[in-house]
Amino acid sequence: MESTNNHLVYYGNETLRKIAEEITNIDQGTIDLIESMFNVMYGAHGIGLAAPQVGVSRRLLILDIESYRGPILTLINPVITARSDKLGPYEEGCLSVPGINAMITRPLEISVRAVIPEGKEMNFEARGLLARVLQHEIDHLDGKLFIDYLEDHDRKELTAELKKIKKLNRKT
Ligand code: ZN
Repeated sequence: MESTNNHLVYYGNETLRKIAEEITNIDQGTIDLIESMFNVMYGAHGIGLAAPQVGVSRRLLILDIESYRGPILTLINPVITARSDKLGPYEEGCLSVPGINAMITRPLEISVRAVIPEGKEMNFEARGLLARVLQHEIDHLDGKLFIDYLEDHDRKELTAELKKIKKLNRKT
């Protein structure tokens, strides 16, 4: 596994646009990556984070919605296996697109299959905030950002802000 990063990457970083690779072996690198992702997420006061957001193109996400009576989860290779026909709007933001929030319409309930760090496969249904965060984070694994769902004219209005966000990416 590539060296893990301990800082966020932002809109404009190319890793955010890649299809992330499956994790076939949960090794020490994976465990270290999970730990550093939690540090980054808590440091930025986020409730969810996907590995591409720290510049690592792997299918891994974490979330902590305990303060909303939800779980703390680490999911490897998560897949959405079913989506409700019922859709609903919810205001989303993203640590990789700081300062921008938008109402995004998505299915309200989903079924998910994923592997947990102990190696066990898990199947579960999610609704409410959990379904929302999962869909947002799984999109990251497919190179998608929530602002991609905006109508062209709405995204155009964000051009200046997005340009500023791009500059947050560290030069390596
Ligand atoms: Zn995000």
